[in-house]
Amino acid sequence: MRKLIYIMGCAHCGSTLLTRILARHSQIATVGELKMSSIPDYRNFQCGCGAELLECAFWKQVAAAFAEEGVALDFGDFGTHYGSNGSFASRVVGAQMRGPGFESLRRAAFTCWPPAARALARINQRNKIVIDKICEVLRKPVFLDDSKDPTRLMHLSRTGHYDIRAIYLVRDGRAIVASYKKRDPDMRANFHLWENKVSECERLRKVLPKMRLMEVRYEDFCQDSRRVLSEILAFSGLDDQSEHCLSPSTQEPQHIIGHNSRLLGDRPIELRNEWPALLTAQDLENFERRGRELNALYGYDLDESIPRQP
Ligand SMILES: [Zn+2]
Repeated sequence: MRKLIYIMGCAHCGSTLLTRILARHSQIATVGELKMSSIPDYRNFQCGCGAELLECAFWKQVAAAFAEEGVALDFGDFGTHYGSNGSFASRVVGAQMRGPGFESLRRAAFTCWPPAARALARINQRNKIVIDKICEVLRKPVFLDDSKDPTRLMHLSRTGHYDIRAIYLVRDGRAIVASYKKRDPDMRANFHLWENKVSECERLRKVLPKMRLMEVRYEDFCQDSRRVLSEILAFSGLDDQSEHCLSPSTQEPQHIIGHNSRLLGDRPIELRNEWPALLTAQDLENFERRGRELNALYGYDLDESIPRQP
């Protein structure tokens, strides 16, 4: 059974940095976010290695490996996203994870309603092929998926194809909503986005066995990278290559697709606390009123601007 490390969390939780560091491990294969349903404007998209996507030697090899299976690799539609294409069956697959009642109904649909079962099986199979081929080309046995989406993790964990180790990467909610604010000034929407995703992650936590999920605070990772990385590798059952992974001299091309930070190159790991400058007193008051309890789940104290290490 293939080992699958899955990073779960909110958008902007810092997962691309963790992915790029884990990708240096001799056993970990990754391309970042496999959830990606399509790469927008992929003809002008730059792979994490710096090459144009269509010119990247790695992706050419993956395409050739696909062709051997009679499958076409289409950057416009990876076919790996458990998302809706509009049909009711795909909406059953793609609906965000909810409470036990809804999930029982969803599982019943997969058992009793062939269109939903077929839609799920098609995406499961596609993920398996993509993961197998990427591991084959990179010659590394463990796959790392940085998709973050808890519903996707639920589906993958139920395939029975993978020995899953989930890293739940959490970050101070104030830093997350401040990061969203850079793109959208609507703080009500930004707060809702964070609250909704954290709640979904908590629902996933209830269904995944405890031993399969490790919670990691992004701030701890930045402040004590070596220790936290060693713990992640131990949890994943892999050799402790933390020193090698954190060494800026260990440069090898990484073919990561996803967040723009894939193109940043090697930079020292540092905790940049930008949120105090980005959030207004009103933003903080609103966060205090609605987000204190949820943020406290992960040890963040709203009376402290810099989280303490546990
Ligand atoms: Zn590349």
